[in-house]
Amino acid sequence: MDSTLTKLMRDFPILDQKVNDEHLVYLDNAATAQRPNQVIEALTHFYQTDNANVHRGVHTLAERATADYEAARRKMQKFINAAEPEEVIFTKGCTDGLNLVASTYGEANVSAGDEIVISIMEHHSNLIPWQQLAIRKGATLKYIHLTDDGELDLDEATQLITDKTKIVAVAHASNVMGTVNPIKQLAKLAHQHGAIFVGDGAQAVPHMPVDVQDLDVDFYAFSGHKMMGPTGIGILYGKRELLEAMPPYQFGGEMIGFVHQQESTWAELPYKFEAGTQNIAGAVGLGAAADYLTQIGMTAVQAHEQAIVNYLLPKLEAMDGLTVYGPQDPAKHTGVIAFNLEELHPHDVATALDMEGVAVRAGHHCAQPLMEYLGLTATARASFYLYNTQADADRLLTALQETKEFFNHGSREAK
Ligand code: PMP
Repeated sequence: MDSTLTKLMRDFPILDQKVNDEHLVYLDNAATAQRPNQVIEALTHFYQTDNANVHRGVHTLAERATADYEAARRKMQKFINAAEPEEVIFTKGCTDGLNLVASTYGEANVSAGDEIVISIMEHHSNLIPWQQLAIRKGATLKYIHLTDDGELDLDEATQLITDKTKIVAVAHASNVMGTVNPIKQLAKLAHQHGAIFVGDGAQAVPHMPVDVQDLDVDFYAFSGHKMMGPTGIGILYGKRELLEAMPPYQFGGEMIGFVHQQESTWAELPYKFEAGTQNIAGAVGLGAAADYLTQIGMTAVQAHEQAIVNYLLPKLEAMDGLTVYGPQDPAKHTGVIAFNLEELHPHDVATALDMEGVAVRAGHHCAQPLMEYLGLTATARASFYLYNTQADADRLLTALQETKEFFNHGSREAK
C-alpha cells in the first residue's frame, strides 16, 4: 500500500475493525461511504462552538452558523464548478433534489402530449418522480435502452429525443453496472430540441471530477453521504435562469420575501428553495467532505479506483460460474461492479462474503426496471472507494472462490 493511502486509512477508524473474526473489507460504498475523522470533527466542532439557526439572528453564534453554512455552499459550488453560489441548493439528498425538479420545473413546464426521456438504468429516484409527473400531466415517459455491453444506446437516444421532449433525465454513472454515461452529449442533444437535461450525479460526484458548466447540464443532483459527508444533506445544482423562473418546492419559513394574509412573495435564490430550518450541521459536514476530497484531488480518487477496477474486473470476468453485468472494458467502468454466482441467490452470496468480513450489497439496487430488462431479480454488488486497495479486491476474489467451493461442496453432498 502506498504511503498516501496508509495515511488516509488512519482517517477512517471504522475500517479498522473485525467482522466475523476477519478484518473488515467495506465494499458497499455505492450505498453509503464511510466518513473520515475530518468530517466527524467538523460536525462536532459546529455543535460544540457555533450551533445556532442561520439567517435569523444578529447574535454572534447566529452569525457564525450562517457564515459556516454559506462557506459550505461556496465549497460545494467550487467542487462542481457552478458559476454562482446561488445555483447551489442544499437538499436532503439526491432523491430530494430530483423530486424538487420534477415537482417545480416539471409541474410548470410539462403538459399533456409532452415527452420525458430517461434511461432504463435509472435508480428509482430518477425514475419515479418522472413517471408520476408523466401520469399527472398525461405526458409520455420514454426509455433509452442498452447496448450488449451495458452502455446507453445512443442511436436510440437520438431517435427518442425529439421536439416533443421536454425533459431528459439520466444518471451520470449507474449504481448497478458502473457505466459512465455521456451526459454532456445527452445534454447537447436535449438542448438541440429545446428540452432541459437533468443529471443524477449520486454515483459520479464522489468518484470523478465533475464540472457542471462544462457538462452544460440544467440541473444536477447528488447526495452528501456517498461522498463521505453526513446523511440527510445533498445538493441540487440548477442554472440561475431556470431556478428563478420556477415556483418554490415547499412553503414556510426562510423561503419568503413578504407574507400577506392572502398572498406571498418569495426569497431570492437559493433561499426560495430552502424552506424551513435546514440541516445546517450536515451542510458544514458536507463542506468538510468536499475539502477532504479536494485535498486528495478528484483526478487522483478516480485514478485510484480505476486501478482497482483494471485489476479486478478481468479476474471476475474470468471466474468460472460468475457473471458480471455492465461494460466488460475496465476503462468504461466505475468502481461499482454487479455480479451473480451461478445457481446462488445474491443474498446468500452477500451473507457468505460477510462471513469472510467482506461487505457487499445484494438486491435490486433500487433499479427494478433495469433488473427486469436484464432478466434478473437481483445481483450482488461490490463498490469501491478511495480507501479500498488491491488487497481488498483480492479478499473479495478469495471470498468468492471460497463461497463457490462451500456451496458446490454442499450441493454435491446433498445429492
Ligand atoms: N441515484 C443513484 C444513481 C443512486 O445510486 C442513489 C442512491 N443509491 C440515488 C439516486 C438516491 O440517493 P439518496 O438515497 O441518497 O437520495
